[in-house]
Amino acid sequence: MENPQSTESKEAGKRRKLESDERSRTVMCMVVSMDTSNFCYRVCSICERTLPEEAKACCNFCKFRTGVDPGSKRLFRLLLRVATFTEIFEVICFDRAARVLFGCSADEFLDFLKLNPNAAVTADEILERDLFEMTLSKPKNGNAQHLRVATVKPMRSCFRSVIDTLRQLHRVTLASSRAPLPA
Ligand SMILES: [Zn+2]
Repeated sequence: MENPQSTESKEAGKRRKLESDERSRTVMCMVVSMDTSNFCYRVCSICERTLPEEAKACCNFCKFRTGVDPGSKRLFRLLLRVATFTEIFEVICFDRAARVLFGCSADEFLDFLKLNPNAAVTADEILERDLFEMTLSKPKNGNAQHLRVATVKPMRSCFRSVIDTLRQLHRVTLASSRAPLPA
């Protein structure tokens, strides 16, 4: 005979699973575009609290605790427009998932961008039309408007990260600019 308590907890378990399914879903999608005007933000290099964009602003909490300016770093925050089989919508992709796409840290990408000002636009072109499996979750903060990319997995077995492709393109450009002109 079934214990009514265990039936109840099974129901509760089912409900919990249903709720978590409602909070997140895994979809196959194609990147339609990336917002190239704003794709990263500044944080404290120790505690990763968000800092204002002004270069001088530092994390007072860590400065007070350690006695030195902790410095800052950048983390990715990509706004991607993606398409599934049935809809097109915007998602926000934070650092951990964005590194899968970019293959480097936001600071490394910004260093590359300093030398190659078109790199952000090219990064968008590299990602466009590529297929990914994404787990999307509803934001915990009710004010946030976009679904978050919790995990991302490239669908193409020959997928190369944005930075790898950029470096490759850059090498090809350099090589062709060094090549002697045809006679
Ligand atoms: Zn800090």
